Amino acid sequence: MNHYDIIIIGAGAGGGTAAYSLAPTGKRILIIERGGYLPKEDDNWNPEAIFQRRKYQVEEQWLDHENNSFKPQAFYNVGGNTKVYGAALQRMREQDFGEVNHLAGVSPAWELTYQDMEPYYTRAESIFKVHGTKGEDITEPPMSAEYPFPALPHEPRMQEVADELGKLGLHPHHLTLAVDRNVDDPDNSPCIRCGTCDPYPCKIDAKLDAQIACVDPATAYDNVEIKINTLVTKLITDDSGQKVTAVEVEVEGNKAQYTADTFIVSCGSINSAALLLRSKNEHHPDGLGNSSGMLGRNLMLHNHSSVVAIAEKPNPVKFQKTLGFNDFYFGSPDHDYPLGQIQMTGKSKWNRLALFAPGSIPQPTLEYMADHAVDWWLTSEDLPDPNNRVTVTEEGKIKVDFTRNNLKAHEDFVDMWQSYLRKIDFFLFMVNTVPLSAVWHQVGTCKFGSDPKTNVLDLNCRTHDLDNLYVVDGSFFPSMGAVNPTLTIVANALRVADHLKDSLG
Ligand SMILES: Cc1cc2nc3c(=O)[nH]c(=O)nc-3n(C[C@H](O)[C@H](O)[C@H](O)COP(=O)(O)OP(=O)(O)OC[C@H]3O[C@@H](n4cnc5c(N)ncnc54)[C@H](O)[C@@H]3O)c2cc1C
Ligand code: SF4
Repeated sequence: MNHYDIIIIGAGAGGGTAAYSLAPTGKRILIIERGGYLPKEDDNWNPEAIFQRRKYQVEEQWLDHENNSFKPQAFYNVGGNTKVYGAALQRMREQDFGEVNHLAGVSPAWELTYQDMEPYYTRAESIFKVHGTKGEDITEPPMSAEYPFPALPHEPRMQEVADELGKLGLHPHHLTLAVDRNVDDPDNSPCIRCGTCDPYPCKIDAKLDAQIACVDPATAYDNVEIKINTLVTKLITDDSGQKVTAVEVEVEGNKAQYTADTFIVSCGSINSAALLLRSKNEHHPDGLGNSSGMLGRNLMLHNHSSVVAIAEKPNPVKFQKTLGFNDFYFGSPDHDYPLGQIQMTGKSKWNRLALFAPGSIPQPTLEYMADHAVDWWLTSEDLPDPNNRVTVTEEGKIKVDFTRNNLKAHEDFVDMWQSYLRKIDFFLFMVNTVPLSAVWHQVGTCKFGSDPKTNVLDLNCRTHDLDNLYVVDGSFFPSMGAVNPTLTIVANALRVADHLKDSLG
């Protein structure tokens, strides 16, 4: 039988969470995922496989605003992009839900408040086993509960760096992480604090990615089925155009259809927009749910730079991603506009540094740099712009017409951070501002809001135009702050699932 109560398209953060939350309802649920299960193998933790061969990355090519092809750093598998994520799960700041003035313009307010989202953040942190210390982060929003697990302590070199920066008046905090680490009994811990977490898959399933946290528990229910390696090519509507009736899929070149009462799209912000655009028909000539003309627009990616800071002192750290600073999230003594968040990234290996200056630095020098480096990751908010847009060409290719904005604030931020690091004896910096291909934090292409004239989704993330079509990945964000987006995607998917439980009975 090919009919289901609910079809969820995409088994990543949003879709996986929706499945997890809806599974206990007993509804007949089908999850359709274009990728397979990422294999557990030695290459999971092999830097050469990750950075040189890009083993798990998609093969397809997208087009930029000048129609140049690029290979997106995207990952199609059960768990979506979270299979390789850094597992830093962060709540948006309370102020991020209101209007925020930036150097380059205004980050618009949400029609929901932080208080509306707070209970869902708490549930999301519990499902993803977030480790953290409440009260350390000076921008932390009010929380109704402690973090479910204690923070991962810093290794000695990172503690030293935290202390030295603390003496300069900054406020170090422990990053909030979704790894299954038994801090009190490390010898009996699923997570072994290896040196290859961000951006590697976890070979021993100790990272709480969307597969481990959500999809696997959901598919343990008899009423939940998953079809993998199955690409959804189109959504089909009824004769009135008011309801979706079926999805068309492709498996190894063969087409099939599955029908359902309710459809939840969660392909990641860029692919969800592309799927809805590809599903255009006589009732929806510009794409499903696009009477506002906003479908595919307002794509946001964040402005990111890695700052590899080198000191004479070696950094023998294994698991580096424990430290963060939010002192400049809303500005600095010299900048009366938001700058962003500072966190560690995975410890650089020479293979990763080789990507910054391909072929120009000999391997022994890269190895020396990696051994002495402390690796920072700086993220600033970018602003929604209708001209930053996903479209689909006549040939069906995804085009990402994107021009970065708010870059001056990001550049100020990166400069300022280097000046702080110089004060604590770092003397050489490799700065890499990520290219368009790094679409890791994609959000915004189906923004939500109560006005159907200016929004694709209503506040329950149902399309304004179709009665039974929902989108629960990062597409709904009207603005995104400067924190990592996944916890907000998960929290929102839980919120939408609660709405569906109420409305479907
Ligand atoms: C290297 C890296 C590091 C990151 N680190 C962090 C971090 O530390 N913290 C954080 O918060 N975020 C991080 N992110 C971002 C995080 O992974 C994303 O925010 C999150 O996965 C987005 O969730 P989503 O549901 O929108 O999409 P995804 O999780 O990408 O899920 C979309 C799913 O839909 C499937 N799909 C797409 N199209 C179709 C189709 N037509 N038919 C069927 N299936 C389809 C895809 O295969 C995929 O499984 C990182 C990302 C990367 C790549
Ligand atoms: S640090 Fe822990 S969760 Fe991350 S990849 Fe290693 S074992 Fe897995």
